Amino acid sequence: MELEKVSGISAKTLNNLNKLGIKTEQDLKTYYPYRYNIIKKTITEEKIITDGVIIKEAKVTYLKNKRDKMTLEIENYEVVIFNRGYLKNQLTKNKNITIIGKLNENKIIATEIKLGLIDENPIIEPIYHTVKGITSLQINNLVNKINIKFPELIPKDIKRKYNFLEKEECLKNIHNPKTEQQLYQAINQIKYEELFIFMIKINYLKQNKKIKGLYRPINQKKLELMLKKIPFKLTEDQLTTSKEIYNDLTSGKRMNRLILGDVGSGKTIISIIALYMNYLSSYQGALMVPTEILATQHYEYIKKILPDLNIKLLTGKTKNKSKIRSELKNKEIDIIIGTHALTSKKVEYNNLGLVITDEQHRFGVNQRAELKNKGKKPDILYLSATPIPRTYAITLFGDMDISTIKSKPEGRLENLTYLKNNTQITEVLKMMYQEIKKGYQVYVIAPLIEESEKIDLENVMKLKDKMELAFGKICNIDIMHSKLSTKQKEVAMKKFHSNQTQILISTTVIEVGVDVKNATCMVVFDAHRFGLAALHQLRGRIGRNNVQSYFILISDIEAKRLEILTKTNDGFKISEADLKLRGSGDFFGIKQSGDMQFKLADLNKDYKLLMAAKDDSIEQLKHNKTKILQTITTIKQLD
Ligand code: ADP
Ligand code: MG
Repeated sequence: MELEKVSGISAKTLNNLNKLGIKTEQDLKTYYPYRYNIIKKTITEEKIITDGVIIKEAKVTYLKNKRDKMTLEIENYEVVIFNRGYLKNQLTKNKNITIIGKLNENKIIATEIKLGLIDENPIIEPIYHTVKGITSLQINNLVNKINIKFPELIPKDIKRKYNFLEKEECLKNIHNPKTEQQLYQAINQIKYEELFIFMIKINYLKQNKKIKGLYRPINQKKLELMLKKIPFKLTEDQLTTSKEIYNDLTSGKRMNRLILGDVGSGKTIISIIALYMNYLSSYQGALMVPTEILATQHYEYIKKILPDLNIKLLTGKTKNKSKIRSELKNKEIDIIIGTHALTSKKVEYNNLGLVITDEQHRFGVNQRAELKNKGKKPDILYLSATPIPRTYAITLFGDMDISTIKSKPEGRLENLTYLKNNTQITEVLKMMYQEIKKGYQVYVIAPLIEESEKIDLENVMKLKDKMELAFGKICNIDIMHSKLSTKQKEVAMKKFHSNQTQILISTTVIEVGVDVKNATCMVVFDAHRFGLAALHQLRGRIGRNNVQSYFILISDIEAKRLEILTKTNDGFKISEADLKLRGSGDFFGIKQSGDMQFKLADLNKDYKLLMAAKDDSIEQLKHNKTKILQTITTIKQLD
């Protein structure tokens, strides 16, 4: 029900709730506290929480600026508190009170006084995210006014197995826990429910994935000829993966495959081979990538490998969109490369047979689904450079088949990574100079300020001035950032590709997929501002040739975290180390969206719950399928 209709909610409150994303009664009831104040007897250096009977009643002295100071005494302590004069009349002799504050010898400098003693059980206060104009307490009061029935999504036998409560009871406890045990149980149950439903969806899709595929006669001779023309020897894993794709395509069932391969493992060529197989069976193919830079780069690359095909580029900035659209519709185009513009409603395909999404973790589930649903039942291939441990991958992407590429192209040298601080900048400049002198190129990455593109730009310009000062006489320096127009970006990228510029100063717009073989050095300023996963991605931009490359991190803080990068080039190890160090973070490097966004569950932390939910969901789908699908109506949203 809409919140407007709930009595006692004023227009102002309603407005504030809307700001918090709360529109319906359901939203409100499932707007969970993000933390709790647990008030129980504590004495530490930082904090004292205690209670007692007042033995000397409160006295107030009034200070300047409407401030006041109140003193009183309980059995063991003197208590001082500021600006609570208004409580004076309640704080009389023999009253029981609870005091929160800081202990200074025998005196408590209190920050809070509450009436009543501390129970056996602690007082647990739910704290909600709020906006100006509404307090956490008000939210809690409103939540408690809502009385609606929630469907029981967890089947009875599972509830019994884990001693779960009725949903309503659980919701009551999460907003008003009486004991810590109640609280943790409630949180646990809600997390479990989120993960269970997610896993039901995944495993349901997995069961149903045997959708009939397209008819695909693939001319072996032509395929072999194309493979021969590839200018390098495919690695073992590239060959295996290509075979798996071939088998999928010709299996008579729809392909739904995810390729997991660390940066630089050579995923692009696999997608080209797949597109060619698709072409040989007379279908159109589409390759979707997250950025324009990458789209352009893939476009140039694919044209080189498949010169006889009609390949076009379509991004948001493409000029002759309508022409391309009509060519697509009339099947004049064999392969289209582009950004999410490919999913636009206006784009119609003639007979789309294969949809490939590169850097799939960059796209929301919905965007991916949009393209996937464009053709009749195109085969699907996802490429991802997110290092996810395999058990996780199988669980999270259980509805897909997974290929893992571990081997790097032959002859590659491991990138050497150095951690430097700002006092060592001369050394860094020397290293850059060495590379430039040898005829190689250098990326310089500007500090990241997520909130502000404007500051990003300033940083790029500042670095440009510095670099000009150091290298302006011996080489060309260019910049790259998100504020440049498509044309400007293209020009900058082309110049760097063709070695007309030797130093490219950039924000992380080049993080994803960019491939310039002659670049052998990357310097990242204020490296601590980046996540390890992002840095690992950035590092993947160099070492794409068989010469030694250097990755230099500049930072004056957080050396320990960054040190991991100096020790290993293995993305899987880095993500695991990141997880251990921070307990969470961008483990997956995934900008989670759609299906994978949970209110309480955290894929990085709730590993055990996730695994339990996985096993239970498989079990339920085996023995209890009809019922479970009926109950979980959300399943209907699945395609
Ligand atoms: P990623 O997996 O990060 O997308 P790319 O597909 O961009 O990696 O490949 C990285 C670079 O390695 C490209 O320049 C590509 O041409 C080259 N490459 C890919 N496979 C091989 C191989 N088997 N031998 C040599 N070079 C290769
Ligand atoms: Mg790539």
